[in-house]
Amino acid sequence: MNLHLSGIGISRGIVSGRVMRLSDWPQVSERRLPPRRVEGEVSRYLAALQRADEELGTIRSGIPAGSPPEIAGFIEAHQLMLRDSTLSTAVIEIIRARRCNAEWALKLQRDELVTAFESMDNPYLRSRRDDVDQVVMRVQRLLIEGATRKNRQKPDDNDDTPLILVAEDISPADIISIPRRGVAAFVTEMGGPLSHTAILARSLRIPAVVGVHHARRLLHNRETLIIDGKRGTVVASPDEKTLKSFRRLEREDRRHQQHLRQLKGAPSCTRDGCNVSLQANIELPDDIGAARRVNAEGVGLYRTEFLYLNREDLPDEEEQLAAYRKVIRAMKGAPVTIRTLDLGADKPLDPEHGGHISPNPALGLRAIRLCLNQPTLFRPQLRALLRASAYGPLRIMLPMIASLEELQRVQALIGEIQTELDEDGLRYDPDVPVGIMIEVPAAALASRLLAPHVDFFSIGTNDLIQYTLAIDRADEEVNYLYDPLHPAVLQLIDMTISAGKRAGIPVSMCGEMAGDPGYTRLLLGLGLNEFSVPPTTLLEVKHLITTSDSSELARQCQRILRSASPARINHMLAELNQA
Ligand code: PEP
Ligand code: MG
Repeated sequence: MNLHLSGIGISRGIVSGRVMRLSDWPQVSERRLPPRRVEGEVSRYLAALQRADEELGTIRSGIPAGSPPEIAGFIEAHQLMLRDSTLSTAVIEIIRARRCNAEWALKLQRDELVTAFESMDNPYLRSRRDDVDQVVMRVQRLLIEGATRKNRQKPDDNDDTPLILVAEDISPADIISIPRRGVAAFVTEMGGPLSHTAILARSLRIPAVVGVHHARRLLHNRETLIIDGKRGTVVASPDEKTLKSFRRLEREDRRHQQHLRQLKGAPSCTRDGCNVSLQANIELPDDIGAARRVNAEGVGLYRTEFLYLNREDLPDEEEQLAAYRKVIRAMKGAPVTIRTLDLGADKPLDPEHGGHISPNPALGLRAIRLCLNQPTLFRPQLRALLRASAYGPLRIMLPMIASLEELQRVQALIGEIQTELDEDGLRYDPDVPVGIMIEVPAAALASRLLAPHVDFFSIGTNDLIQYTLAIDRADEEVNYLYDPLHPAVLQLIDMTISAGKRAGIPVSMCGEMAGDPGYTRLLLGLGLNEFSVPPTTLLEVKHLITTSDSSELARQCQRILRSASPARINHMLAELNQA
């Protein structure tokens, strides 16, 4: 009997295997202690913290060589959380003040922390709630000695069917500590595409579906399960017909991935001879390895705000220069587009450093607005960027520009800093290109007027769609309205590409839409010839480029642009993609 469940596919791949449920939240006993036992309980708690720390240390030292660098970072973050006073001193105070047993005190403190995290508007910080749970769960298991170990199921060595973990949530540390042999995928009830677990699953290429409600209640140990990590589908106890069709898909998928790898060295060129530049989006200097592995022609978007997050101090000019130089050098002469700080909204700046909590953060002091409002924050970055331009082909990209005035204020600042650098005898490229992201509808509508003032455009569809359709991209309640194919969005993209062409400046797209193979042909048809995409999807996009005829697509896309009906647009796009 097929039981179909759906969730959010966060890491693609089709896997069939059998369910292995991770033990659920341990049952916590709640006991009031006699005064003489309180200090003993404190020691028991401290010993569990120490053991949890050691456990994570062992996991960390066993990280396989060549694993993505963020793995160690995730584990380190959990170790820091374990050592933080919110989990040590605060819990000990509860044990002493309320004479609770350690498990109960930890549960009380966990509930308090989770309530605080859940009330945060920022989805990144909200997702840190999962880290709290993962760390607390580890300590609880150690406190309830023995029981947890008994609950943990181990793969049956005589059965080599792949295992699919099913859990309420899985911590990044657990993903790598579970023996890799035999564990092929996971399904969780919690989590979203922004969580660390999701990021890690993607970089480790472990297929996964998260947000599957009641997965633990509905899925049973050892039951056969199929998951499709791209579409977010989970099928339990599939009948022979379903199993066969998924296996076919799995084989096709594997063949397709092999084929994609062969495209690595191939030119990115359409069948009718149009060259298309395929560049990579990166978040941290270390991501450059992934970009180079797929032969990205450059970096089309380096989101520098990640240098500023998860730390107490701000990176100074020298630290920034070192990070930018590292990326430029690693790209060995290929162009690198570095975006100036896009803090605010879902990536808030700490209030200690001048961050504001606006009533509506996405419409507030964000990105270029924040930088122009706080020159002490912006100047060191511009100095570092200009200095980095001496080391290779750098382009400076400004986020969230809505008017010519904002652009001119930045250009004036750059002029001032160039004079300062001349006085300081520091090198820079005086002709470093300065371009803007087109991600506010106003900029797209005025793109024809803005184009003569900039060196390039890069379309940021993530925000362009959010602002055009008035849908907060971080709000789960309205996410379903987020539609890259909305006629208004398509008109704005078309307008921007045409304005860039008319002015003779390059137009790239670096929003998620550029990396979604479902839109590659549409964008080619609209005349886009520079894509900046996550390294994981670059070869897929290249495959579509090499199998397309751009002049034919241009004709078909004119029909799409003339339609106001979403159903009709979807239908025409499907035809385009099938050809
Ligand atoms: C965008 O808005 O499309 C974009 C690339 O920037 P970010 O996702 O960082 O806002
Ligand atoms: Mg943006």
